[in-house]
Amino acid sequence: MENENKRAHQKLNEDDLYYKLKEQDETIIKNIQPPDYACDCHGKYCNGFPVNVNPVLMEKIEAVQGLVDHPVTVISGVRCEMQNKVMDGSNLSFHKLGRAADIQCDTLGVDGLAEIAESVGLLVIRDYKEGMVHCQWNE
Ligand SMILES: [Zn+2]
Ligand SMILES: [Zn+2]
Repeated sequence: MENENKRAHQKLNEDDLYYKLKEQDETIIKNIQPPDYACDCHGKYCNGFPVNVNPVLMEKIEAVQGLVDHPVTVISGVRCEMQNKVMDGSNLSFHKLGRAADIQCDTLGVDGLAEIAESVGLLVIRDYKEGMVHCQWNE
């Protein structure tokens, strides 16, 4: 399990991809950002949205919600640099790009929710410890 997780992270978070997407996303025009996705620092280190939430990521998570009868909660969305450090997140975390969200559904287990997220095209990491699914959009 441990090794499997490490591999998944590597596949999802290559350095080149991170910087390519960072540049690409900085050109996206700012729009209204959904509060569910605001940085977990709650205004301590940033204004909630140091980056935009990727619109495709949001669409995909809405699609997941559409396929599930019970509420799907966004536990963690965008993360600023400081909050990512505080949370001991990966240095190249896609949360810092607005391209990752951790979601949870009370009635579906991690595997059930992860399968649905994968079915709409999201990359996922199953977090059994926290009982949530890390969803990521890499394009
Ligand atoms: Zn923050
Ligand atoms: Zn995550």
